[in-house]
Amino acid sequence: MNAKTTQTRLDERLDRLVTIDIGERGVEPLFAAARDLQGGALVGAAAEALMAVPEGGTVVVTTGSVSRAWISPAIGENDGPSGAAAIVRALVLARNATCIVLCEASLLPAIRAVMVAAGLSPVTHKQAAIARSDRSLATVVMMPFPTEDDAGRTAAPALLDRLGPDLLFSTERVGRNTHGVYHSMRGIDYGMGRARVDLLFDEGLKRAIPVVAVGDGGNEIGMGKVADHVRAHVPYGAQCQCGCGGGIGAVTSCDVLVTAACSNWGCTAIAAAMAARARDARLLHTPERETRLLDTMVANGLINSTHGIIDDAVDGFPRASHIAIAELCRTIVAHTL
Ligand SMILES: [Zn+2]
Repeated sequence: MNAKTTQTRLDERLDRLVTIDIGERGVEPLFAAARDLQGGALVGAAAEALMAVPEGGTVVVTTGSVSRAWISPAIGENDGPSGAAAIVRALVLARNATCIVLCEASLLPAIRAVMVAAGLSPVTHKQAAIARSDRSLATVVMMPFPTEDDAGRTAAPALLDRLGPDLLFSTERVGRNTHGVYHSMRGIDYGMGRARVDLLFDEGLKRAIPVVAVGDGGNEIGMGKVADHVRAHVPYGAQCQCGCGGGIGAVTSCDVLVTAACSNWGCTAIAAAMAARARDARLLHTPERETRLLDTMVANGLINSTHGIIDDAVDGFPRASHIAIAELCRTIVAHTL
């Protein structure tokens, strides 16, 4: 069997593993639709795009959901940050990339702690340039993004001009619907205090900057690509509960959409597909690191958004399931490393 065929088979297995719809959110029809559009494995296409970032390039990464926005903008959830950290780490190791992580100022401390637990030193953009030039440190740059529509619209083009990113990556980051409202999976408006990062992604798509997005519900950045299917298959996909007249589906599309039963799993699988391509085990999101990140997220007050409590059951799935997914992804690609 040639190398290309082997890679395709591994990608297919990773795809299937992380799309088993354990939470019954309707992700399987979204997966089928995204695969049809992609014409192949989603995880593989995402890994190809990320590995195509030029050596020393710049990637804008976003994650973080203000999960109980109506109570406090400081309450974030634990699906998103660990997956984003796995991708940033893989990009730094594989491409010597400078990754700029955008989120709300209110969630920045918790997400920064997750990045640190993944081995990344938070630095300024200027400091990251030094680290990149001599490869002396694995870094991440954290930046807050505006939480108001008008400020977000102004900041988006200005920030893209300044950073000149080679790729935009989003995981588990809610985007507005056709009426400009940000909805939870229960179909309520929870846009208050939420960074308008989706506006930056729309601007990036207009500029033909490659966009890779991971989601598990239909309300995230990237799901605009399968909007009709979100409407048809996801609870509140056609009609929300907030009265805006739309469904929860995000309008913002992407070039490569990765669907997963839990967004963190999608990122774990992408990291494995990157590791297989680079033949570099350092790029894997290992069970050991997942364990550390789960503990770090609890220690920093990120909630399990299904049960509304701080624990390590991301999206309501028990701790062991997340560690098992990391183990299975590693096992699937192990013989290539
Ligand atoms: Zn609504």
